[in-house]
Amino acid sequence: MDVKSAFNNVDKTFLGKRMEELGLEADLIRWTMSFMSDRRVKLVLDGETGDENPVDTGVPQGSPAAPILFVTYLSGIFDEVERTAVGVSGLSFVDDIGWWAEGNNAEEVAGKLLLAAATAIEWAGKNGMEFDHGKTEAVIFWRKKRKGTQTEARVKVGDKEVSFNRVATRWLGVWLDSQLTLKEHHATRLKSGRNAMSRLERLTGQMGLSPVNCRRVMSACVQSVAMFGAELWWKGGNVRGTTGRAEELQLLVNREARATTGAFRTTNLGALSMESGLRPATNQLENRQRRFGLRLLSLPQGEKAREVVSSNTPLGKRLSSTLARIWTETERTVLLEEPESFDAELIQEQREEVKKKAEKERPGLVMFTDGSRLENQAAGYAVAWKNGQIWEGIKTHMGFNQEAYDAECAALARALKMAAEIAPTPSHITIFTDAQAAIRRMSTDEPGPGQKYALAARKHIAALRRAAPDITIEIRWCPSHEGVEGNEKADEWAKLAADEPDAHGVEGWTYSDRPEESPLPRSLANIRREISEKKWMEARQWAGGRISRKKYKMPRSQRPDGTVAGSTKRLASRFYQLKTGHARTGEYLHWTKARRTAQCWWCPHPKQTREHLLKGCPRWRKQQKVLWKEVWEETGGGRFRWKAHELFAEPRCSEAVLRFLMAMDVGKIVLPAEDREDMEGSEGSECELRERQGQEDERRAEAEALGPWGEPLFLPIPPCMASAGE
Ligand SMILES: [Zn+2]
Repeated sequence: MDVKSAFNNVDKTFLGKRMEELGLEADLIRWTMSFMSDRRVKLVLDGETGDENPVDTGVPQGSPAAPILFVTYLSGIFDEVERTAVGVSGLSFVDDIGWWAEGNNAEEVAGKLLLAAATAIEWAGKNGMEFDHGKTEAVIFWRKKRKGTQTEARVKVGDKEVSFNRVATRWLGVWLDSQLTLKEHHATRLKSGRNAMSRLERLTGQMGLSPVNCRRVMSACVQSVAMFGAELWWKGGNVRGTTGRAEELQLLVNREARATTGAFRTTNLGALSMESGLRPATNQLENRQRRFGLRLLSLPQGEKAREVVSSNTPLGKRLSSTLARIWTETERTVLLEEPESFDAELIQEQREEVKKKAEKERPGLVMFTDGSRLENQAAGYAVAWKNGQIWEGIKTHMGFNQEAYDAECAALARALKMAAEIAPTPSHITIFTDAQAAIRRMSTDEPGPGQKYALAARKHIAALRRAAPDITIEIRWCPSHEGVEGNEKADEWAKLAADEPDAHGVEGWTYSDRPEESPLPRSLANIRREISEKKWMEARQWAGGRISRKKYKMPRSQRPDGTVAGSTKRLASRFYQLKTGHARTGEYLHWTKARRTAQCWWCPHPKQTREHLLKGCPRWRKQQKVLWKEVWEETGGGRFRWKAHELFAEPRCSEAVLRFLMAMDVGKIVLPAEDREDMEGSEGSECELRERQGQEDERRAEAEALGPWGEPLFLPIPPCMASAGE
């Protein structure tokens, strides 16, 4: 049910009454009443300003308080309906009000909803609200697939008979169908994504955006649209039911990748994916789902949505398996009724200042903290302080499911605890840390990774203040590896603590519902890292399984080469084309049957390959000399050291190769083949000829999937990708 002009109809008196019923603080109610009083409205039309008129109903649109006040106002309706229509519950988002009822058949459900609607309308009448009956929708979900899921049942809402939607119902951007297959949802989103892509194609053409900006536009305007809500339906690779949808998305990604790089349609998909920086569809779906799972897990204890992850539902099982959390417990967070204050100073100064401050003599207790995570995933932390001339400290091992971030936060909390246990309480405490992220974590008590350490720190600070009300507590940032003695000590000991669990203390955790100490639950930061690592690893595997290693060398870095991606579209396109081997070279055009031979059109060499153009062709001798001189300066290796496909994969040489391409015509100009009658005698200008040749190249290239040689030059394109870009 949709509330008619929702915000405008909030009545001040009713709102005040409702706030009192809810037991809100009197100050808050008075503030709200004042907020809604003495307001005036002025209309401006075509630059003409009208008279001021007083308004006494409605919460102002655009004010952050408006949705909160509106929901408060409306909250009475849920009590009323749930009391009157037994078995009906409210499910709403601001002014989009939903009623949920279960039953054994459609008629039973319709009956319950009828009562709910009637009660809601009655409540609205008494509270100066009105529903827009024309916008009322009803949707029915069937547990089992049945023949003819349609029902003739209707719900009477006011003077209107509402029948259950036949296809799907849009709710918060997701199209819900009766079987919750989300098939309709996917189809709708995919279509929007494709439309966005078509509109963007002009922007991304030959003269268009640089590849790096292209990629950003693609992720923001195409992928986010097409894959919105996909985490709800994705069932994983090789599972029947959703792989077809992934293939459709892959076709869209291919189109985006070609628009980003300017690569030809036959270009190997593995190379295309690596060069464009647009990860394959299955990988993106998997990653979306994992991030969704992590978001749910980060919710405070008691949130219904958090329980979805381990629930015995298809989505719950799917999320559990993709997050690989079969046996592990995960760090918990809580929503505090009242915020706890952090009564200490957090100080981050300029790098130069810090070192001086850290080395000067300070009154009271001075501690250095550090957290560490080793290659073998072990984490630990240390707190170090000086007793006379001797360094003393705490070394604590944290297990194998924590991050350096967790260790840094734990170290700060532990240092405060240590300080609180000293008798007599020092008058001045300074704690140094090299982790800015940990300082930021301490500054807020909101739910999220590391929250428990922020809460523990608050508890210890409160204890310190009780013992010594005038105590000064400072937490200061001090970057590592600056030669500060305490820092070095803490760093050394943190590594030691991570490395040797047996020789030192081991961190554990207690819960309010489980007082005996247990091993640390897996941290949210640790899950986040795993998700990110898997994302890149899987994308690489996908690409690696599709390329020919002889022709294309996988880049070492996960991110596409910034030098190339940041250059102009025209130049970058030629670079990508040559790099992937699908470019306007004699060899390639011969392979696509666009030319009868692979001969160089600048010299008599029988095979115009990338190697030939970069090293041998006498036409470009001058440019080659410059290129190889620059390559030598950058890498200490020359033309004998570098094979063409390796040179393109070496980021240190990117600039030199781009300059080389700029100075010559390789990959740009295709001269007419002398031995081809159909090209001879053409009247067009050279420019037209080139363009026609280019079009023909692409047309022929598309028709051919395999090379003329016994061994295919590039791996065959899988059938699902063959018609890419539809
Ligand atoms: Zn040549």
